[in-house]
Amino acid sequence: MTRPTCIHIHLDRLVHNFHLARQLHGGRVLAVVKANAYGHGDVACAQALAPFVDGFAVASVQEALRLREAGLPHRIVLLEGIFGADEIKAVALHRLTPVIHDFWQIDALQQLPSGTTIPAWLKLDTGMHRLGFMPETLLPAFEALKRGGRVSDITLMTHFANADVATAGVLAGPLRRFRQAQQALPPMETSLCNSGALLGHPEAHGDWARPGLMLYGVDPAEPGIRARTPLQPVMRFVSEISAVRTIAAGESVGYGSRFKARRTTRVGVVPCGYADGYPRSTPDGTPVAVGEGIAPLIGCVSMDMITVDLTDLPAAQVGTPVELWGERVAVSTVAAAAGTVAYELLCQARRAQIVTHPASRS
Ligand SMILES: *Cc1c(COP(=O)(O)O)cnc(C)c1O
Repeated sequence: MTRPTCIHIHLDRLVHNFHLARQLHGGRVLAVVKANAYGHGDVACAQALAPFVDGFAVASVQEALRLREAGLPHRIVLLEGIFGADEIKAVALHRLTPVIHDFWQIDALQQLPSGTTIPAWLKLDTGMHRLGFMPETLLPAFEALKRGGRVSDITLMTHFANADVATAGVLAGPLRRFRQAQQALPPMETSLCNSGALLGHPEAHGDWARPGLMLYGVDPAEPGIRARTPLQPVMRFVSEISAVRTIAAGESVGYGSRFKARRTTRVGVVPCGYADGYPRSTPDGTPVAVGEGIAPLIGCVSMDMITVDLTDLPAAQVGTPVELWGERVAVSTVAAAAGTVAYELLCQARRAQIVTHPASRS
């Protein structure tokens, strides 16, 4: 028997969620597979989605090359563009599509031999204030891009700071900035929405959607609002109960004795801890699915173990299956309890062994 903690990745659900994204958006859809496809395995996910997507989006040339090496010929957008002028040759060689968010990147394009052109996404800062041209520098940036003669076609893009807020109208200000800036340029295709905007703000869709989180089965607005579309969780983080003991009322559990038993308590050990990606900040009471029931976390999360209260689950014993998150406990629920977001937990569930279940071929 080996350590039972592992991550199951259900690629049929990834494909299902992609089709939902496509239906909701209606236009072209890039699957965002940066950060190892949010911890799900970038090559396996990209290959499962390959027959359906209009392209992929990643955070770096290195991530893009992993997809090219796997034989994927699709459009690949570099969401942060190039990090140095020396990357521009690889961009052209591997037919990548950089986001252009600064003037030095436009200058770097001039290193390409004349006659070589690449597609580019021009990024407008509509209020996130992270990357992109401010509205007043967008037109000069566009003109410099055109003048350089190294771009074949340009897509105008932006990224919203608050798309995961479900309240109607939260994107009105940024959208107004986008439309205004757009009017100064000739007509071109646009890309506006991530998962939050795709799910909650149809007025902010544009021509190219860029969903990430929702493809993996998570609504960024959860928990707290009802799921807006029937997404299926792609990742199941599972283990088994590995030890059980009973302690008297007044005894405590784990490092720092954080949990103190108020009754005679059956303590179950699950061999999964923060080294596996289960956050150390998770508080007592966070739900853990054990067998058919739900057991609350008790005691501090250790590096390789957690402890749960099995007092009300008398059938639970050594070997009983455990789900840390997935179908029965939403990753968003654990994230909210731990004071973070589902994005972070998915990306961090990395040490556990990954078992990939292929999508059916039909
Ligand atoms: C990560 C990212 C996305 C995808 O966001 P989700 O919230 O996961 O859908 C889209 N656009 C940009 C620019 C990003 O960095």
